Amino acid sequence: MSTAAEASRATARPLVVMDKVNKHYGSLHVLQDIDLTINAGEVVILIGPSGSGKSTLCRTINRLETFESGAITIDGKALPEEGKELARLRSDVGMVFQSFNLFAHKTILENVTLGPIKVRGTKKADADKRARELLERVGVAHQADKYPAQLSGGQQQRVAIARSLAMEPKVMLFDEPTSALDPEMINEVLDVMVELAKSGMTMIVVTHEMGFARKAADRVVFMADGQIVEQATPEEFFTNPQSNRAKDFLSKIL
Ligand code: ADP
Ligand code: MG
Repeated sequence: MSTAAEASRATARPLVVMDKVNKHYGSLHVLQDIDLTINAGEVVILIGPSGSGKSTLCRTINRLETFESGAITIDGKALPEEGKELARLRSDVGMVFQSFNLFAHKTILENVTLGPIKVRGTKKADADKRARELLERVGVAHQADKYPAQLSGGQQQRVAIARSLAMEPKVMLFDEPTSALDPEMINEVLDVMVELAKSGMTMIVVTHEMGFARKAADRVVFMADGQIVEQATPEEFFTNPQSNRAKDFLSKIL
């Protein structure tokens, strides 16, 4: 555990708070009384069987999905259901998906500057400068003028991370960011995420990459059937899971 992480916990400031959140898809109760608090600077791994509601949980946090009851606040503010304020507040929550979703007909640089210019009203010259810094940080600065199809999957996913960071989010959500990548590209993306975690970014990461969990995570949250079943440090969770659901799950992925 890093000193920075310990310090941030000592002054724990809840950044993402889910309070008794419930959501259904028809008769499927996909999120059941979800209570989850993530403090500023904390890195949380969300893990669990396919279909347990991990993606839905992430998507409700930035209102890509609605929910029926309960409350979600980001840094003390509830996200409005729609309107201009939603776009601005939503930019507090960066999201990186399995599929990189870059704009195919825009250059790498334009992909990163579009959000700041459109949503934040940043001047183009300032947005360009910041985008080049971010592309440098994720190791693709020399690709700035290319188009997404000219980059490898790992490079595209690093651009997607830079694009999210350009909006200066307070928290970053990653939903299986490496599961669509060829194996040899997984580590270049995880390395960027480890660096981001060390820089103090608050992160929620859906992943089964245990190396990342051990290196960078403060806490593992295990979900099954729409519920949070157990939570522990990575060390505790992977070596000594408490619930039968977690034991069963780990026996399949380890
Ligand atoms: P996970 O990410 O853990 O694999 P998801 O959150 O994607 O799980 O899905 C949880 C459950 O909700 C699954 O049973 C899935 O089939 C269902 N589901 C997800 N999205 C929808 C949707 N748009 N409409 C209906 N059911 C959905
Ligand atoms: Mg999912």
